[in-house]
Amino acid sequence: MPRQRSATLIFIAWLFILGGTFSIFEVVLPSHEHNVIPELPEPILAPKVDYGHSDSSSAPSKAPEPKIVQLMVKQGDTLMKLLVSNGVDKQQAANLVSSVRKQYDLRFLKAGQKLKITLAPDYDESAPRTKKIVAFSLMKNFAQEVYTIRTAEDQFTSEIIKKSYQLSDVHVTGRITTSLYKSAVDSGLPLKTLMELIRIFSFDVDFQREIQQGDTFSVLFKSHKDDHGKVVHHDSIDWTKMTLGGKVIEYARFTSKNGFNDYYDRHGKSVKKTLMRTPIDGAKLTSRFGKRRHPILGFTKMHRGVDFAASKGTPIMAAGDGVIESLGRNGPYGKYIRIRHNSTYKTAYAHLSKYKKGLRKGRRVRQGAIIGYVGSTGRSTGPHLHYEVIKNGRKTNPLSVRLPAGNRLNQKDLKKFMKIWSTIDERILKVSEG
Ligand SMILES: [Zn+2]
Repeated sequence: MPRQRSATLIFIAWLFILGGTFSIFEVVLPSHEHNVIPELPEPILAPKVDYGHSDSSSAPSKAPEPKIVQLMVKQGDTLMKLLVSNGVDKQQAANLVSSVRKQYDLRFLKAGQKLKITLAPDYDESAPRTKKIVAFSLMKNFAQEVYTIRTAEDQFTSEIIKKSYQLSDVHVTGRITTSLYKSAVDSGLPLKTLMELIRIFSFDVDFQREIQQGDTFSVLFKSHKDDHGKVVHHDSIDWTKMTLGGKVIEYARFTSKNGFNDYYDRHGKSVKKTLMRTPIDGAKLTSRFGKRRHPILGFTKMHRGVDFAASKGTPIMAAGDGVIESLGRNGPYGKYIRIRHNSTYKTAYAHLSKYKKGLRKGRRVRQGAIIGYVGSTGRSTGPHLHYEVIKNGRKTNPLSVRLPAGNRLNQKDLKKFMKIWSTIDERILKVSEG
C-alpha cells in the first residue's frame, strides 16, 4: 500500500536525521563540559543531510543589505539635527524633512519618540561616502505611521500607513486595601487609566478623607493589540464606578460632535463641577489607613480647611476656573494662593513650596491647571496642601459644600448617550465570560 510505504520512508528519514543529530552531540558535549571551545574538523559540524532548506552560513557571498538604524529623540532634538548628527548630509536631510513635514507636524516630535532610518548598503568600506537614506519612518500616533521613501536622487515622498490593531474591551475591578494607587496597580489597571479615573472622580471625591478600606472601583476601557498580542494603546475610560462606604458613583464617556470627551452620570449630568474636591493628584496622597505620617485634619472650628498629605513638589491644581486674587507669603499659611471663581466661591491653597512659574495676581486660570507645588512653608509639620473653600466670604467645609450642578447633555445628545450606557452592562458581561 502506498500509504504504508511513505510512512516507512518517513520513519527511515527520521532515523537518519536523529542519528545525524546524535553524532554531532556526542562530539560536542564532552568538550563543553571542560569549558573548551571545540576546534572540530569542518566535516563533522557540517550538515550531513540536505534537509531541503539552504544554510545561510554556507552561502557563497552575501549580497549587501540595507542597514536599519533606530534612533530615539532626545530633549531639544529636531529631525534635521538627528539626521545630520548621524552622518546624513544637509541637503538630503533637508529634503527628507520637508517630505515628512507634509504628513506630520514636526513640532510635535518629542523626547522618547523612535525613528527608523533605512540606509542604502555601502559597498566600498575603504571609501566611506555619505549615508544614503532609502526609507524613513516614525509613528505619528499609535495607529498611524509616517512612511517616507526615496523616489529619485535625494527626492522623497511620504505617506501615512494606518496600522490595524485588534480592539478589545478590558474590565478592571478592585477593592481598596492600603491605598487606591496600590490596589489599582495590583489589579492591573494601567497607570494612564488610573490617572484618568482620579481626574474623573476628583470633582466628587475627597481622596484623602473619603477613600476607605473595602471601597471598590471598576473601570471599562478598550485596548489595542498588535499581531503579537502586545498592547500598544489603551483608549480613554468608557465607564467607571466607585463604591465609597456604600455610596455608588458612576460615569460614562460621551464624545460630542466636535470630538470633545466628557463624563456624565446616568442622567446626562456632567461630572464637572464648579470646584474639585481633590485639587491635587489623588494617586500621590501619602496617607495610608491607620498609618498616617501627618496629622490629617478635617474641617473644624479651629482648622477651617482640609489637608492633603503629599510629598514635596506634588503639583497642585486650580480647583475651578477663576482669577488669581492673592499670591504670596501669608503668615502661618506660608506660600499662599487664593483664586476667585465667581461671586460666590473662592478657594485658597497654603504651605506651598513654590508657585507655578509665571503665575501672578490677576491671571486667569483654568480648572485643573497647575498653580503651585506642595511644601511645608509657614506653620506646618510636614509637606501637605491646606485647602480652603470660601463661600460668600466664609470658610466652609469643602466636604459639605453643595456645588451647583454641572452641564447637562441636550435632548439629542442625551438620547445617543443613553444608547451607549445601555451597552455597558452587556460589554462587561462579555469580557468576564472571556
Ligand atoms: Zn490645614
